[in-house]
Amino acid sequence: MDLDSKPLELTDLPRKQFDDDTVEMDITHCGICASDLFTLDSGWGATDYPCIVGHEITGVVTKVGKNVKNVKVGDRAGVGAQCGSCLNCDFCNDHEENTCEKGVIPTYNGRWPNGDKTFGGYADKWSGHHHFVFKVPDNMPNEIAATFFCAGITTYAPLKRHGVTKGSRVGVIGIGGLGHYGTQWAKAMGAEVIALSHSNRKRDDALKLGCDDFIAADEDAKFAQYKGKLTHILCTSFARNFDWAKYLGLLRANGVFIMVAAPDAPLTDIPTMLLVLKQISITGSAIGSPDEIRDMLDFAAKTGVKPWIQKYPMSKAPEAVQAMRDGKARYRFILCNKDE
Ligand SMILES: [Zn+2]
Ligand SMILES: [Zn+2]
Repeated sequence: MDLDSKPLELTDLPRKQFDDDTVEMDITHCGICASDLFTLDSGWGATDYPCIVGHEITGVVTKVGKNVKNVKVGDRAGVGAQCGSCLNCDFCNDHEENTCEKGVIPTYNGRWPNGDKTFGGYADKWSGHHHFVFKVPDNMPNEIAATFFCAGITTYAPLKRHGVTKGSRVGVIGIGGLGHYGTQWAKAMGAEVIALSHSNRKRDDALKLGCDDFIAADEDAKFAQYKGKLTHILCTSFARNFDWAKYLGLLRANGVFIMVAAPDAPLTDIPTMLLVLKQISITGSAIGSPDEIRDMLDFAAKTGVKPWIQKYPMSKAPEAVQAMRDGKARYRFILCNKDE
């Protein structure tokens, strides 16, 4: 454990002050995201402890302020990694609140405009602004819905934005919490999907997730077979010794490399001439906007994309977090407030 990290402990913390825009809910489920671990460990700078992590939250609405129109008491609802933005800049006005120029208010380790701390989903209750609360589709149980709000949208939004469709051929690097969504989304959008993984360990899972083919990092013949054949690469797992030439070489002309992993160092050794001659784009993506989240939920409800989950009671959060640290998730851990 990092020296700056703190152990998880059970405690009572004040909720956000209730106002006309507030939705309060009883949390039923919360997914465990790698971001939770980074934040617990102060891995992205000093965490403002005490901190309640968890940003793949579903629950049942218990109270709403008078400005709240999108959910009502009794509705099942969810919240993701963003719980606020200025709602007033050019980006917010263009429905791209996830790129707000005043900055995204994160669902934990952040501050509401009134100074109250934001607290996430490893808890029994959540309070926040209705603009970032979403009704869960009727045919989707809360335990299934929870991880759509971070892992789901992080992978859905860029694939949709960059035009993945029938005829696309998408490579997904990393079969984990994000990658197991990415492969399913790309398939449901009509693409041919190739899993790219560091070893053969997840080959069977990738095929069960609908991948058309699987390439382990040392399968040079496979890399040669797909050279210049992919339209998109979604990168969900990134190591410091990443071989850019090898992976970008898989892209056809005008191909798009989408980074959704969050490496802690600048990208280096990118072969510039390959970018120029093949007109390749390297781009990033941050969660998704509220419109994209609603679109994703509709798409999932229609196509049946869903996460592979393993459940833990909320009281076992420390054990679940440790299992996540140990790389045991296949592919998302869910904390549950009621055993079902
Ligand atoms: Zn997350
Ligand atoms: Zn804004």
